[in-house]
Amino acid sequence: MQIVRHSEQTLRTALISKNPTLVSQYKKLDAGEQRLMNEALQPASDLFGPIILHSQSDWITSHPEPAQDFEEFFSDPYRRTPSPEKCSIYIQCIGSLGNTRIISEEYIKWLKGYCEAFFYGLKVKLLEPIPVSATRCSFRVNDNTQNLQIHAGHILKFLKKRKPEDAFCVVGITMIDLYPRDSWNFVFGQASLTDGVGIFSFARYGNDFYSSHYKGKVKTLQKKSSSDYSIFDNYYTPEVTSVLLLRSCKTLTHEIGHIFGVRHCQWLACLMQGSNHLEEADRRPLNLCPICLRKLQCAIGFKIVERYKALVKWIDDESADTPGVTPKHSREDNVNLPKPVEAFKEWREWIIKCLAVVQK
Ligand SMILES: [Zn+2]
Ligand SMILES: [Zn+2]
Repeated sequence: MQIVRHSEQTLRTALISKNPTLVSQYKKLDAGEQRLMNEALQPASDLFGPIILHSQSDWITSHPEPAQDFEEFFSDPYRRTPSPEKCSIYIQCIGSLGNTRIISEEYIKWLKGYCEAFFYGLKVKLLEPIPVSATRCSFRVNDNTQNLQIHAGHILKFLKKRKPEDAFCVVGITMIDLYPRDSWNFVFGQASLTDGVGIFSFARYGNDFYSSHYKGKVKTLQKKSSSDYSIFDNYYTPEVTSVLLLRSCKTLTHEIGHIFGVRHCQWLACLMQGSNHLEEADRRPLNLCPICLRKLQCAIGFKIVERYKALVKWIDDESADTPGVTPKHSREDNVNLPKPVEAFKEWREWIIKCLAVVQK
């Protein structure tokens, strides 16, 4: 195990910068917001700890990349920022997320609600869910894992064409595994930052993907033609659990974070840390460190207190994302799906502590 610990001075420069304009911008933040962000500089802070590496296969060791501090983020000429005309995050669900229509619909609403709280101040809109066939993407059965996979690049092209006028970005989500090209085994997701589109799969986040009993294995692919998508009808989806929801929320917010121009974090334990494998992704927290939080706040312009409160509310609100709106389910309306949030409880306690610091 190796601890990546930066000096107080390094973290101060990463967070506040030495650029006089950015220093004065920092000083204009609410006193409470500065108090919270300054926690990054406390070596013994129980809110923001250092990055801990467990093995050589962890991201930082295996993918050396330059660290991005606040000033670099701020002055990045290629960074996309939401504007009043393009301020909506669109989510496009591809294929079913659960084994019934109701579960699938609820799941996507939970994700929408989470993103709305996380990217507080932006609108998150759902595009009408579509079957895989609508994207006309290539697909295959993976030779090693025997599961169905769809071509990530083809999905990106499809999403780019369908991007609504007011979209800051469109993110596709699916429970079907992805591959980027024939020679690759799989990919968790792929995005085009310049186009503001991304596609992310949660297929490998179920509790059974890596088990020998995994039910998504297909014996052989007897494709009549490349346009025969019938194999996707009733294709296996993992059981919806609190852990699956947490992993999905984490991936979605990390990846949308990249679309805002936030690069992998190398400062403190943070959602924006890169991850090379599922175990490392699970270790990564749900929260942003103060440096990445300042980047996101600069791009969106929320009040930190309001954002934290919205996140707590999402965890506490166990039903649908929008109170007062009851979904109309004519035939399957006996289903009452509570949002599985047990896995978020520890994080809830953490947010409450942050709120106490901001509001002191
Ligand atoms: Zn990443
Ligand atoms: Zn960070």
